[in-house]
Amino acid sequence: MRILSGADIAALVDSAALIAPLEAAMRSVSRRQAELPLRSVTPVGGRNRLGVMPGSLASPAGYGAKLLSLFPDNPAQGRSSHSGVMLIFDVATGLPAACLNAAVLTALRTAAATALATRALARPDAATLALIGCGEQAEAHLHAMRAVRPIGRAIVWGRDPARAAAFARHHGIEAEADIARAVAAADIVCTVTPAMAPLIRPAMLHPGLHINAVGASMPPMQEIAPACLPHLRLFTDYLPSLEAQASEVIAARGDGLIGADHPITEIGAVLDGAPGRADSAEVTMYRSLGIAAQDIAAASFILARAERDGRGVVVAID
Ligand code: NDP
Repeated sequence: MRILSGADIAALVDSAALIAPLEAAMRSVSRRQAELPLRSVTPVGGRNRLGVMPGSLASPAGYGAKLLSLFPDNPAQGRSSHSGVMLIFDVATGLPAACLNAAVLTALRTAAATALATRALARPDAATLALIGCGEQAEAHLHAMRAVRPIGRAIVWGRDPARAAAFARHHGIEAEADIARAVAAADIVCTVTPAMAPLIRPAMLHPGLHINAVGASMPPMQEIAPACLPHLRLFTDYLPSLEAQASEVIAARGDGLIGADHPITEIGAVLDGAPGRADSAEVTMYRSLGIAAQDIAAASFILARAERDGRGVVVAID
């Protein structure tokens, strides 16, 4: 089994390199050539949780599972809020093939999946990006958005203006203390926070905007006000995850803001020809939940590169 550290993964790929393998995976997911049990989340004390994400993908063929500690207070101690391992197996033998740092894998694959959705849904001339949140996913998304759209201006908003300013300085972008002004300036908004109360409100929506709602990927987190939903075209990575884990959709349906028949399209279906953005004025939103198929496709691609370059440590575990 090949063990790949975060440094190994970062040396082998960036989020842009993962867009192609994720495109193949998301098409397979929407053709239902995948087995994706819902992510299980086990409380492990305080606000901390253990996430378990198993899955199997027919094309590109692979299976495995991710085990992830979700410790929201870790960043204050200089550690990632996500840490753990991703195991993938050899489909021919069933033997473990690789064990990867799950924090780096998750950051890169999530941003790559968002980039894929943005490439399909954002206006081709979308050039101003607003990042809502300034943690690890914000950094990964800044890089990934630049890979798919001609981002000439990037703005970051954070609930702590000093942290947002530090993020902006580090990345050579702008900080904006007023979230409404950040969204008003943007063609693409990425929300990348574990917010418990909505950050994006209906009054902030404007024609042509594309929102990537990435952070609040399980209840009770919520970044987008349910009242926004009737005003936008909604897309997601995997409908069964959305039904179970997208707070804003569950709340909007519960409050009668949208009906059960409100159209929501998977990104893999759009890539296979289903309608995406209708025109340059429509507001589109991609609700990312995060699925094991993305981890499996990304990990398999990274493993192939590691074997090519002789990176990582190979251990015998039998
Ligand atoms: P980090 O801890 O690195 O960063 C979180 C950011 O969100 C920080 O800027 C933090 O601000 C901010 N934040 C925290 N709470 C709030 C709040 N209540 N209101 C506004 N901002 C807030 O986390 P990551 O970047 O790794 O992850 C961000 C989110 O993305 C998490 O919710 C995570 O679960 C989710 N995620 C989703 C994935 C998917 O596939 N969709 C995959 C991986 C992660 P401050 O610095 O002030 O604390």
